[in-house]
Amino acid sequence: MTAPARNREPLPGIGDEIAGLEAAIINALGIPWQMGRRGHIRCPLPGHDDRRPSFRLTERGYICSCGHGDYVALTMAMLGVPFADAAAWLRETLGLRPDAAGLDPAEAEARRQWLAEQRAKAKAEAAKRDAEEAAEAKCKAARARELWRSAVPIAGTLAETYLRGRAIEGPYPPSLRYLAGHRQPYTGLVLPCMVAAVQAPDGAIVGVQRTWLAPDGNGKARLRDPRLPLGDFRACAVRLGPIDGTGWGVCEGTETGLSVQRLFGISGIWCALGTGNMPNIEPPAHVDVVTIFADNGPPGQQWAAKAAEALHEKGRAVMTRKPPAPFGDFNSLAQERAKP
Ligand SMILES: [Zn+2]
Repeated sequence: MTAPARNREPLPGIGDEIAGLEAAIINALGIPWQMGRRGHIRCPLPGHDDRRPSFRLTERGYICSCGHGDYVALTMAMLGVPFADAAAWLRETLGLRPDAAGLDPAEAEARRQWLAEQRAKAKAEAAKRDAEEAAEAKCKAARARELWRSAVPIAGTLAETYLRGRAIEGPYPPSLRYLAGHRQPYTGLVLPCMVAAVQAPDGAIVGVQRTWLAPDGNGKARLRDPRLPLGDFRACAVRLGPIDGTGWGVCEGTETGLSVQRLFGISGIWCALGTGNMPNIEPPAHVDVVTIFADNGPPGQQWAAKAAEALHEKGRAVMTRKPPAPFGDFNSLAQERAKP
């Protein structure tokens, strides 16, 4: 009964039709990826000069620094065609056309079996990937904790030199530590490194944020990626101080948070480390009021609004503050104020 309707309306239903056939689609598009593989590859989409691999696939579609979408969107982008053509190509390539109504019984049965096999294969691969990802997450958290244990308090280290250079005077919170020499994975360079503890909502350390410093502590290391996370981040935060009578605040970066503590006299500042994580922050049960210390500029403002909405939905009273223009964040403001 669905066949004639489908002929009249070529657009709807393609998402359901191709579900479970992701591996076959990737293969047909010539993307060098196997379902179940982790990590990123260089973006295969035309027009994206992806120097550092930032493209990956999920069960639902693709995610890249240049955009994201489902498997129909991926097909459109790869082939450079509009939706209807991409849908037609997918049906043709995956053997979803012509409609079963027009097929002889043997061919229809063969196609049905092929589809069932593809879907079973994709399901098994997804289960395998989930297991692998869980194992890897556990391993990364263990590595992060090991790194954390081997690091020392930052007083008197190059991390202190670095923070003073950013107009952040001590005392420094115990959630920041220092490693005299830590290897940056992309370059292999061993440099001084500031390590921030990333805590899950229950307080457990599940990751670290690493900031490699210049050999004399004067600024960050001159690397493409002087700052890299290790371990879990979602819903987690770097907690810069206990939540006491001074209130609770949320911001993005560690340096911003340290400056907010000093500018506003608030101890309990949590850093989401990446604007995108701000709405995921789980408020502590005993805290009713939160101040979001946003960065300036469209992404900072946008994510602050999303975080405000999320925290409001969790029953918290929310206030948002941002630094006056032209300062990008509260640390830039603090640096300006520290100038003689
Ligand atoms: Zn891309």
